[in-house]
Amino acid sequence: MILLIFHDRRSLANVASIKGAIEECYGPYGLMVQESGYLYVPLEGQKLNAALLLKYLGREFSTKRVLWLVDRELLYPKIGPIAGCTSERAALLYAGIEQDVLVKEALHEVGHLMGLEHCRQDCVMQLSRSAKNAREKPSRLCQTCTTRLNQRAH
Ligand SMILES: [Zn+2]
Ligand SMILES: [Zn+2]
Repeated sequence: MILLIFHDRRSLANVASIKGAIEECYGPYGLMVQESGYLYVPLEGQKLNAALLLKYLGREFSTKRVLWLVDRELLYPKIGPIAGCTSERAALLYAGIEQDVLVKEALHEVGHLMGLEHCRQDCVMQLSRSAKNAREKPSRLCQTCTTRLNQRAH
């Protein structure tokens, strides 16, 4: 499986560390990551409608897995501000958060693209209900999620 990573104007600086972390975590399960450069955000405003952007990604890259780092805050309709979100094949991530939390959120969203669901164990697939929660959860997968990936990869 191939994952394309796109970035917005100011989020290029984050691409290398995120790519490295994703390859380390999911490479063993057959994921290959391709840096795919700058992708223009077709929306105006200080904050971005995450649902619209996910739809846009779904249309533009209907057969590929995509992760897009954006510079502006993401708002999900009826939910509010979010760090990241996924549809079936595409993930969005707001790059303006602390570096180590950003890497965890990237691993979390890509975990969804790899077919993982939320996990209650000491695991990066924990749902982050708060910024504190996001800071405290580990940046790795638990044994249950690892087993699940192994089953999918073989
Ligand atoms: Zn999630
Ligand atoms: Zn887990």
